[in-house]
Amino acid sequence: MHPILFSESISQDLAQCLSSIPHSQLFVICDENSQKYCLPKVQSLISNEASIFVASPGESNKTLATCEKIWTKMTEAHLDRKALVINIGGGVITDMGGFCSSIYKRGIRFINIPTTLLSQVDASVGGKLGVDFNGLKNHLGVFNEPEAVIIADEFLGTLPLQELRSGFAEIMKHGLIHDAAYFKSLNLQDWENSDWRKLIKHSVEIKKNVVLQDPKEAGLRKILNFGHTIGHAVETFYLDSSQHLLHGEAIAIGMICEGFLSSQMNGMPERDLKLIVDSFIHVYGKVTLPDQDLESIVDLCLQDKKNEGSTLLFSLLSEIGKCEYNIPVIRTQIVQALNFYQ
Ligand code: NAD
Ligand code: ZN
Repeated sequence: MHPILFSESISQDLAQCLSSIPHSQLFVICDENSQKYCLPKVQSLISNEASIFVASPGESNKTLATCEKIWTKMTEAHLDRKALVINIGGGVITDMGGFCSSIYKRGIRFINIPTTLLSQVDASVGGKLGVDFNGLKNHLGVFNEPEAVIIADEFLGTLPLQELRSGFAEIMKHGLIHDAAYFKSLNLQDWENSDWRKLIKHSVEIKKNVVLQDPKEAGLRKILNFGHTIGHAVETFYLDSSQHLLHGEAIAIGMICEGFLSSQMNGMPERDLKLIVDSFIHVYGKVTLPDQDLESIVDLCLQDKKNEGSTLLFSLLSEIGKCEYNIPVIRTQIVQALNFYQ
């Protein structure tokens, strides 16, 4: 796996990284927010000649249309195969910038500098790159590794609280699927003031260990999808509505629903379910899903690419800290899980 640097000084670490990777040209991909808040911290290292592509922020721009613009700018800048791309931004930019780099001239090298909590604890590890397509999340993509990932918590200072909370859901997930003591050590009363550096390191360690054992998601890696089958469906359902949910907010709902399925079908003790529900409701509050739309959310689950054939295969907990995968669940049970959340 690529090196993951936990940086205490982004400018120092990027300088070192750039000097250790010989390159003909630099090309930077960011969005308007990371351009404003993050790029200034590394600007002095990027020569004036580096081309910079600035995307409009947000998931709705994680599309082939934006990729086309990136490839056009790469072509206009005459990037050759020895060029190096720096993706600096949240998961949208690291996924899409990594994808564009992997396709341009059959692949040029790239460095990822994730600048949101979510991208630091999740998107930065594991080599999944891509964009959304026809309303389906991450429908087009590749597995490929960056030359390096540099994680600097100094970027988190400008992140809106709601975005920070979205990333925190993945941290909670890492505890639930792999490390009960970690989950129980999280300070939910005062989560905003967590020791992010410590949590990011531990979460990345958990994700890295899982990914190393199963890079292409043949088996074990599926445990990282806990909360995501229903969570993705909820996220997709709200994508175009005014009640837009961030990824972490949607998977918080997904983890409550899939926690319910874990207790119903996978022997997870009731007290664990209670702790999961109380924890997520405390941090994320309660969203009211419109009753008449529950069936549409289930339909979206069935479209999820992680399902083989018509069987819905879930990753479910057997207790907090232990997750099993490929557990078949039928439609009516998903409806029950959504009703439980209601
Ligand atoms: P994002 O990239 O949209 O960033 C969230 C918002 O924060 C954006 O508005 C962005 O402009 C802004 N921002 C970024 N850094 C900032 C900073 N330091 N200060 C202020 N604002 C800043 O979303 P995200 O939550 O980082 O990532 C979500 C994406 O990641 C999704 O597309 C998801 O599919 C992907 N993802 C990928 C993987 C993977 O394994 N590859 C894993 C998890 C998520
Ligand atoms: Zn996720």
